[in-house]
Amino acid sequence: MTAQPDTPVPVGRSWTTGRLAEVDHVGERLVRIRLEVDERTDHVPGQHYVVRLRAEDGYTAQRSYSIASDPVEPLVELLVERLPGGEVSGFLHDDARAGDEVELRGPIGRWFVWTGGQRALCVVGGTGVVPAVSMLRYARRLGRADRLTVVAVGRTWDELPYADELAASGALVALTREDRGGRYGAPPSPREVAPLADGVQRAYVCGSAGFASFATRLLGEVGVRSDVVRVEQFGATG
Ligand SMILES: Cc1cc2nc3c(=O)[nH]c(=O)nc-3n(C[C@H](O)[C@H](O)[C@H](O)COP(=O)(O)OP(=O)(O)OC[C@H]3O[C@@H](n4cnc5c(N)ncnc54)[C@H](O)[C@@H]3O)c2cc1C
Repeated sequence: MTAQPDTPVPVGRSWTTGRLAEVDHVGERLVRIRLEVDERTDHVPGQHYVVRLRAEDGYTAQRSYSIASDPVEPLVELLVERLPGGEVSGFLHDDARAGDEVELRGPIGRWFVWTGGQRALCVVGGTGVVPAVSMLRYARRLGRADRLTVVAVGRTWDELPYADELAASGALVALTREDRGGRYGAPPSPREVAPLADGVQRAYVCGSAGFASFATRLLGEVGVRSDVVRVEQFGATG
């Protein structure tokens, strides 16, 4: 079953098993993982899973990863950026293979979710685009694409996860270090974002701590009220 706009958001509380059905390296530091999830609870766009790795000696490490897929997709899709020295992201990028199993808990999160009811604007950066991809796929399927606008920020096209899909879905892709399509490399400006903020009832910000403070300020500058802004930060303690 898929959550309908403004219905309660389901949360998965117990640990289950995820089998890695597909592991695709989609960029120098990016791996897209599609999983078959046992006893799966359908997610709502914006939610995440906790992935737990367990070594033979019983040592465990767990981290959160946002869901990129639409709830009706048969496999749950995650997109992981390999961080230098990253314990879990390093394993998922370098060592994980199709057929491996991980422990999973989720979907998690009741705050950073979009059920399609409100006119929303996402300002997302780097791997922070992942929940917005789920929202876009969901919106497209429900015929609600007119209610969701995405501003996706990356350094370059190649480094921005889902750049092609985001652009094809009508997102404003703002590259900070690359000139492309008549746009000079720079963060998105209030002039670019203001027309997209008209009538917005909910705004989502997702990315690093630095990005989140930039995006929150930008939303304020274009007139989005702070009480409608929801922020998810992928900080170093994430
Ligand atoms: C709700 C939520 C959703 C998330 N979704 C995603 C997602 O979709 N894709 C994704 O790739 N990550 C996501 N993250 C971040 C993810 O949970 C991990 O923090 C990240 O993969 C690093 O874990 P690690 O074990 O590889 O690094 P660690 O071994 O924990 O740390 C290695 C080094 O990287 C630094 N570091 C740790 N985390 C970060 C970070 N996020 N940014 C910059 N430096 C960091 C540490 O300070 C350390 O120096 C999410 C986090 C949260 C809280």
